[in-house]
Amino acid sequence: MWKTFAISGSVVLGLIAIGCGGGGGTSTTGGALSCGPSFMLPNYASVNDPGDGEPNLLLKWPNFPLRVYYPNEEVRTYGGTIYRSNDLADVALNRWKTASNNEATFTQGLGPLDADITLTMNTIGSQPGAGGTLGSTQITYYPSSGTIASAEITINVWPTMTEAQFTQGMVRTMNHEFGHALFMQGHSDEVSDVMYYLANPNVDLALTTRDINTFLTAYCGEFSTRGVTSHLPGEKPVTITIECKVGDGHTH
Ligand SMILES: [Zn+2]
Repeated sequence: MWKTFAISGSVVLGLIAIGCGGGGGTSTTGGALSCGPSFMLPNYASVNDPGDGEPNLLLKWPNFPLRVYYPNEEVRTYGGTIYRSNDLADVALNRWKTASNNEATFTQGLGPLDADITLTMNTIGSQPGAGGTLGSTQITYYPSSGTIASAEITINVWPTMTEAQFTQGMVRTMNHEFGHALFMQGHSDEVSDVMYYLANPNVDLALTTRDINTFLTAYCGEFSTRGVTSHLPGEKPVTITIECKVGDGHTH
């Protein structure tokens, strides 16, 4: 099982090496791994979110597959090719599925009432500048266990989006917001990670070893097969909203 994860990581590392010159190793070699923030290293499970200075908090869904629902769709045509936001969202979501060695699985929800995660396209008037919002995720979870009950993603689009912004930068934003919806209250402190708190809206970015390790650490490497954790009797869930903004994100 762990060798399989290592193989998955190696594939991603290979992709990263093409664009960024390599990444770090993992703690997958030898011995049993114990659950906790150091489950797979390097990761950003225990750093402070550079956006607000607060400690990161790992969250998790109680089981898979999750039902994903896209209430609306944005369609753009560039160079005679039609691009649909629903398809691009699937591309972004499937990167996390791949990172889990296909253990984190998803189905299309039939509507908002039966959806675990919704992703809504939101049109804003103009391209957001530095500090402007590219996307946001609202997460409802139970604090005692960090178990997520629902997540609602909003992806901003604007009339003048270039092909690169729609087909690359937006996929990166979708991938980032799905990361929040799947496991992450907070952000990476490393500019090369997809879950860094700022992003360049013009470029896509592959998940890094740290992104993947943090995801696997949140779930202790188990998805559909792990025990269900939920909440205390009578516990009320809390709802937070994470805003993800334009900034000096990784540009290659
Ligand atoms: Zn974010």
